[in-house]
Amino acid sequence: MKRVGITGGIGCGKSTVLDEFKALGVPCFVSDSVAACYYNDPDFLDDLRHLLGDGVFLTDGSADKRAVAKRVFSDRTLLDGLNALVHPRVMADFDRFCSLHPQSPYVLFESAILYDCGFDRLMDRMVCVYLDLPERLRRLRLRDGVGEEQLMARIANQMPAEEMMLRADYVILNYEGNPRHRQVAYIDKLLRQ
Ligand code: ADP
Repeated sequence: MKRVGITGGIGCGKSTVLDEFKALGVPCFVSDSVAACYYNDPDFLDDLRHLLGDGVFLTDGSADKRAVAKRVFSDRTLLDGLNALVHPRVMADFDRFCSLHPQSPYVLFESAILYDCGFDRLMDRMVCVYLDLPERLRRLRLRDGVGEEQLMARIANQMPAEEMMLRADYVILNYEGNPRHRQVAYIDKLLRQ
């Protein structure tokens, strides 16, 4: 079974493209959704408390994700520490996910920060969904209703989309009017070989 990473900057259309692969029966692992569940895991919360202290916890014992983000995005060492808690768990869960789909010729691993985390080294192939920045901003304003400054701050935390595109094996250009489903069908065919 091939392990295939799918990435792209926020707003490029990863989720939309992933839905098309899902419709073709491809097992899709969405790393953000999986990682979000760790905030319900007592072991993870213990490790988090050890790393960041009581200040990022609410009175009911749950973690305050905004406080976590504020701490780690202003201190590189803490961000590395958080990644060291999250990344091995994600890869272990991905291994389990793959073992649940032994018949599938390939599985997809979706993450906006796949290259940043070095997870591409664990993948057999990489797919990048690409869109230029002005169009991403236009779609994100419609999707999330947030201002340009906030969007640019999120984007600044990720590898430039152009660099992801240059590094990937396959690129999907997600422009309006482009036959996205044909690009997906073609890549799916290649990955099944
Ligand atoms: P990502 O998961 O990469 O952040 P999404 O898949 O959520 O991006 O896409 C961002 C927004 O753009 C969504 O509102 C989505 O519906 C819209 N979108 C995605 N692909 C297209 C397209 N080809 N044409 C127009 N809008 C699109």
